[in-house]
Amino acid sequence: MASDLLPRESYDNLLSVRTGLGKSDAVRDILAAASTKGVLSLAGGIPASETFPVVAIAEAMDRVMSRSATMALQYAPTEGVRAMREILAQRASETGASVDPHRVLVTSGSQQGLDMIAQVLLDSGDVVALDDPSYLGAVQVFRRAGARLLAIPSDRDGLRTDILAERLRSGISCKIVYVVPHYHNPTGAVLHMNRRRHLADLASQYGFVIVEDDPYADLGFDGERLPSVDVSSDRVVRLMSLSKSLCPGFRTAGLVAPAPLIRELTAAKQCSDLQTNTWAQYVLAELLSNAEFLPRHLRKLREIYSAKSESFCNLTRKMLPWLDFENPRGGLFLWSAISDPRVDATDLYETALSKGVAFVPGSPFCVERDGSHQLRISYSSLDDIQSREALARMGEAFETVLESR
Ligand code: PMP
Repeated sequence: MASDLLPRESYDNLLSVRTGLGKSDAVRDILAAASTKGVLSLAGGIPASETFPVVAIAEAMDRVMSRSATMALQYAPTEGVRAMREILAQRASETGASVDPHRVLVTSGSQQGLDMIAQVLLDSGDVVALDDPSYLGAVQVFRRAGARLLAIPSDRDGLRTDILAERLRSGISCKIVYVVPHYHNPTGAVLHMNRRRHLADLASQYGFVIVEDDPYADLGFDGERLPSVDVSSDRVVRLMSLSKSLCPGFRTAGLVAPAPLIRELTAAKQCSDLQTNTWAQYVLAELLSNAEFLPRHLRKLREIYSAKSESFCNLTRKMLPWLDFENPRGGLFLWSAISDPRVDATDLYETALSKGVAFVPGSPFCVERDGSHQLRISYSSLDDIQSREALARMGEAFETVLESR
């Protein structure tokens, strides 16, 4: 019998315990539905493709192929190509504490960095504190590692470190505190400077590791960017994704960690994929070695996103007056609430999908708090005409759900 015809249950007794942990079929289904033909998607955190520096990348590729083709097509060290580590160390030093390239590991996206951290630090039952709601990809990784999640409320200034301090004082001991410090996914919050310092103090008092996952730091509409928590703490692992600042397709990101952890993280990565794509690292190192490129590119990126966000927010306020939200200060998302208690986000989602528009209902992002009336809407990937149509379909879906009440 062809193996794809075997009933799924035939394998159930073979699956490892961790396979059953951290599954998120709901999200997989939502994102799959969002990519169905004819569906306008406000669901994924997809960067706007017009921000990709296609010409500059093509030129960098040509230079790599004419000057260093054989090295760029060869295996490379697990830690990463030297030029790429140097560039990432320099970028980290510009936005936080001074970093030596030896403390940089090049990973296949920050998502792999999260997985490596979980493998190196977490045993089943260990506690990870994180803001509620939180980035789904991190929640999945920590759950799959068997971690217990300690949900800490957050507000527009990020994780409530005062509440974290209370929990720690009450005797809970956690190994990791996970934060997304700029333009949080999904809430858009920016972790306040005082809270960064407070978090650093708590880390040294209680001995946990701060995982600072920062893919949206370059996406502040007014260019606002606060220093990494590592200026006040040597217990920080920084995840520096390039997916939103450049493009996600290279699957190449930087991870900065204290030296003893870098050794362990590198060993974990070696088991996973030996190394990050050599060619992508050569191309990115070539592109970023031009000191003028990134600041110019980021200025353009911020202009595009800030204009897109403003027109999307204006349109949404006009067309969906039942949706409450604050205009984002950066990042890709509107974290919004349905003001009518009769309409639940999951019902709205299902009806909206049948009318050809997708977003992500709030519940999957929430660990403990109630997300049943929240929606995460990504404004980044549709153009103006498509956005108008998507919002019109959401308006119709809202009316349909109301009528059914
Ligand atoms: N962390 C957060 C908070 C994210 O939103 C994302 C992507 N949506 C990632 C990590 C994954 O980034 P990468 O593409 O570098 O793997």
